[in-house]
Amino acid sequence: MAYLTIAQFCRVGPPGWSVSLAVLSRMTQRNLLLEEMTSPEVAAALAAGVTSVVIAVGAVEQHGPHLPLLVDAARGDRLAVEVAKLIGGALVAPTIRIGCSEHHMSFAGTLSLRRQTLEAICLDYTVSLARHGFRNVYFVPSHGGNFGPLADMLDDLRAAVAPDCTVHAYTNLIGFMGFWQEAVAAESPGLEGRVGGHADIAESSEMLCIRPDLVHEDRAEEGLVAHFDDALAERIFRDGFRSVTPNGILGDARGMSKAIGERCIRNAAEGIASDLMGS
Ligand SMILES: [Zn+2]
Repeated sequence: MAYLTIAQFCRVGPPGWSVSLAVLSRMTQRNLLLEEMTSPEVAAALAAGVTSVVIAVGAVEQHGPHLPLLVDAARGDRLAVEVAKLIGGALVAPTIRIGCSEHHMSFAGTLSLRRQTLEAICLDYTVSLARHGFRNVYFVPSHGGNFGPLADMLDDLRAAVAPDCTVHAYTNLIGFMGFWQEAVAAESPGLEGRVGGHADIAESSEMLCIRPDLVHEDRAEEGLVAHFDDALAERIFRDGFRSVTPNGILGDARGMSKAIGERCIRNAAEGIASDLMGS
């Protein structure tokens, strides 16, 4: 079949393929995940104005002695749904599960993409989605090592699609840390100093909400407790994670709770959605 516009598709699609707006509305409230929809459902969503899409960019890498490697991929799955709900009129594309994790490679099991590999994947996502009629593509990193590469590739992603498709990415790593610090301070005052940004009280708490079966709470430890700023980030990316924290934790994982986790997820989603919609 030759390429069709969405309107043409809806007219020529086989009988029974069309989805009423009422059905569409129930469907999108229940499930925003593009990969779980049928192709006619996606076409109907686009025709009904659901033309934004959120993509989490995660990682599979070490997260200390108490958390599994999939933390940033699983957190990305949840974060993308929460951001999509706040943006409105948005679906969620499959999380990019592996990210730029070279700085964690001295820990067993970590997988890492080269920057150009990640950019190629993001570019192919963007072009595919734009070809189907998505008009706002939002990349949301759920792993610290992806913020810089996303910021660097944004111009190339934008140049790869027509001007009627806009591409956005949340790229403020220090800002993201602030969302977690605020959430922990509000939920458990006095423990905000344990937020360090990696396998810490905030991230461990999020995992208690998302995959509690994979959290080994009895192995939670203190890691490097230090103010996270640009200088520390630069040292980590240059010298590797193990050079600053032998157990792989930045911050302190002790004191985690589901209440902290839900607040961290909500605070981060609200901060990111508001930044993306203003960009
Ligand atoms: Zn993480």
